[in-house]
Amino acid sequence: MATAAVPTSPAASAEPVPVRIPVREVLPWALFMGVLALFMIYFVGAEQGATAMFSGTGVHEFVHDGRHLLAFPCH
Ligand SMILES: [Zn+2]
Repeated sequence: MATAAVPTSPAASAEPVPVRIPVREVLPWALFMGVLALFMIYFVGAEQGATAMFSGTGVHEFVHDGRHLLAFPCH
């Protein structure tokens, strides 16, 4: 009766296999996140005055600290 050298844990001898992430699956999410980031940058940096999408100063005041944190000109 021959006994083979079986590792006690499969992870002990397994080499790490890189996970393949096809660009085709990532691209829609990357575009979505890019558009979302552009909207956030717009609201933080330019949502006021003549370019405002919403009337009033609610959005401007809501992101006011972020505006100063990112060094956008304000007041
Ligand atoms: Zn300010």
